[in-house]
Amino acid sequence: MTSDQFKKLSKFILKEMRMSHIYQPAMLIELLKNKGRASTEDIAKALVGYDKSQVEYYEHITKNMVGKVLTNSRGITQKEKDEYSVIGFNELSSGEVSELISCCENRIEEYLNTRNDPWSHRRKSSGYIKGTVRYQILSRAKFRCELCGISADHKALEVDHIIPRNKGGSDDQSNLQSLCYSCNAMKRDTDDTDFRGIRQSYEERVQGCIFCEIPRERVIAENELAYAILDAFPVTQHHTLIIPKRHTADFFTLYQPERNAIQRLLEERRESILAIDPSVTGFNVGNNVGETAGQTVMHCHTHLIPRRDGDTSDPRGGVRGVIPSKQSY
Ligand code: 5GP
Ligand code: ZN
Repeated sequence: MTSDQFKKLSKFILKEMRMSHIYQPAMLIELLKNKGRASTEDIAKALVGYDKSQVEYYEHITKNMVGKVLTNSRGITQKEKDEYSVIGFNELSSGEVSELISCCENRIEEYLNTRNDPWSHRRKSSGYIKGTVRYQILSRAKFRCELCGISADHKALEVDHIIPRNKGGSDDQSNLQSLCYSCNAMKRDTDDTDFRGIRQSYEERVQGCIFCEIPRERVIAENELAYAILDAFPVTQHHTLIIPKRHTADFFTLYQPERNAIQRLLEERRESILAIDPSVTGFNVGNNVGETAGQTVMHCHTHLIPRRDGDTSDPRGGVRGVIPSKQSY
């Protein structure tokens, strides 16, 4: 005989629960495993367990730090394949096990009382694992939320798909951003946005536009949303143009993923230029927006202009030189 309450709950879980994340079933599991009750903190801890980036981090700590100390240096535990065990555990009575657990709990409490914030390293760049996509996105964002700008020192950052994967967004770095948990939570409310429209608009090209019709052989670097080409009339050698693939007028009509894509190509090209030409000691990076400001090709492009010591008699002021009489101040 199934109870009415079982029918109600299973109907909810199987048919009615609308999931925008794993949170609801994960919370229910935690409650159901604990006689139907759990504190906010316990539920939060259970949710952390599903967060692969957190688990990945603590697996790293276990294998390379605590597991090594207890196993190799101290001989308290042993390791077989992926499993650790306490040496001589079978000789302990259950009372002794409980007492050892309380001893550990006391040592933790003592430690926490004497240190302020033992997790501060986790909020700094060194606490993240280099080489992971998460690390790359967060370091590109300089460990700040790309919407509100708050630093990872103050709020945990999450790596978020700008166009969700189930709406056709890719795992390319240009479609990933670093968001603090508040901005990310606010964004979830807009989950019903029609991302297909945005997706399609990335494909926009205009016939007869020279930057929509760049011959493949002119492209010297590219990613999903932008190209780099050499300027046909270079101001200096290696003068590069970074161009969004979508036909859009200027810097201000770019979508954030395109800005990310352009930024990445700027960094890539800067690296390559510095590697092949040691005489380059500076750069001007700039966008002309509108005919008034000197824009001649009405498809957005960012100039990356390498500079060399002495390439002009008085470089002071740089881009201020758009009004030549005001360049120097
Ligand atoms: P704007 O003045 O619009 O900021 O810059 C347009 C840039 O595009 C100029 O620096 C110009 O030299 C460059 N350019 C114009 N036509 C071509 C072309 O056909 N191929 C390439 N690679 N660059 C071009
Ligand atoms: Zn175009």
